[in-house]
Amino acid sequence: MKIKTRAGSVVFENVTKTYGLGAVTAIDNVSFTINPGELVTLLGPSGCGKTTTLRMIAGLEHATKGKILIGGKDVTQLPATDRDVSMVFQSYALFPHMTVLENVAYGLTVTGVAKAEAHEKAEEGLDLVGLAGYGRRLPSELSGGQQQRVAVARALVLEPEVLLLDEPLSNLDAKLRRQVRTEIRELQQKLGLTAVYVTHDQEEALAVSDHIIVMNRAVIAQQGTPRELYEQPASGFIADFIGDANLVGAELVEVEGDMAHIEIGGLRQTLPHRGLGIGPVNVAVRPDAIELSAVNGESRQSSLKGHITHAAYLGNQMQYSVTSDIGDLFVIDPHIDAPIATGDEVRIGFSGRGLAVVPTDE
Ligand code: ATP
Repeated sequence: MKIKTRAGSVVFENVTKTYGLGAVTAIDNVSFTINPGELVTLLGPSGCGKTTTLRMIAGLEHATKGKILIGGKDVTQLPATDRDVSMVFQSYALFPHMTVLENVAYGLTVTGVAKAEAHEKAEEGLDLVGLAGYGRRLPSELSGGQQQRVAVARALVLEPEVLLLDEPLSNLDAKLRRQVRTEIRELQQKLGLTAVYVTHDQEEALAVSDHIIVMNRAVIAQQGTPRELYEQPASGFIADFIGDANLVGAELVEVEGDMAHIEIGGLRQTLPHRGLGIGPVNVAVRPDAIELSAVNGESRQSSLKGHITHAAYLGNQMQYSVTSDIGDLFVIDPHIDAPIATGDEVRIGFSGRGLAVVPTDE
């Protein structure tokens, strides 16, 4: 293979970025490490600072304070052109008048690589993304998903130490998004690339990442593997953002070792207390960890009751909105054969998995 793979690390040390002479703090004293060969996603709501972080890795924005290292080298002051990174943009940013092959080869030819070698690498790049034989077409003769793969090929032929992907799938429809994200992940793993991926879509982040950095209001809210973030959310924000958890007020009544007895609306649950002491807490309850049963049917012993305010059939699951003594709940129920009707009274129970204690103060 002509295209070489290099995988560098990325380190942020206490990085701050302000815009408008300090009027906006986009990133506030942020530190993290991305290891070689990892795909790390920057995830968070609009305006949290993820694009700014990515653009600082690329050198398209410069840190106001702090230090940025790529592959162990301090690049804080280096312009984009002197950094070994390449970026895939949301808009693809292909040149419409150039063929697909010329687009992929462009970044090489402008840096002085001989045309024959640049084209050879470009052919190989197109092959890697499953577009062998498409080189002579114009971008307008490709589908959106194919154009995005051309953009990935164009980034790969530059043999970056770090591949940056800025919401690469947001112009594609839902089905194609799933397909292209799988392709990107497979390619990254096959080549052992370091990749930094920006998205605001939690499902996409869970699906593609080795590690997720969740940002909120210019700081890191939590980072970890997809499983850690989903199963051990550090806050209500994380539990809600990743997995749509219901946040329910509860009381931590007793601690026994690592476990705590929690009372939620008169129901007792034993959950890991995760450092929290006796007193009010919140419990993040996953929508599929709530069990509903009709009051007149074979009811469980639960004393907690609610009313169905909305029922929706989604083919493989029912989704319910429920008002209850512990607040409004969003419930996902895989039992579609005997759906509960809007207006019905229900008893509410919890399945132990899918509940996590989080602090109240946010
Ligand atoms: P989105 O998902 O909407 O793209 P984001 O998480 O990527 O959001 P950023 O684009 O990094 O967020 O923006 C972080 C903050 O910095 C926001 O408050 C934004 O308004 C501000 N900001 C971003 N770019 C600039 C700029 N060039 N000048 C001034 N403020 C900016």
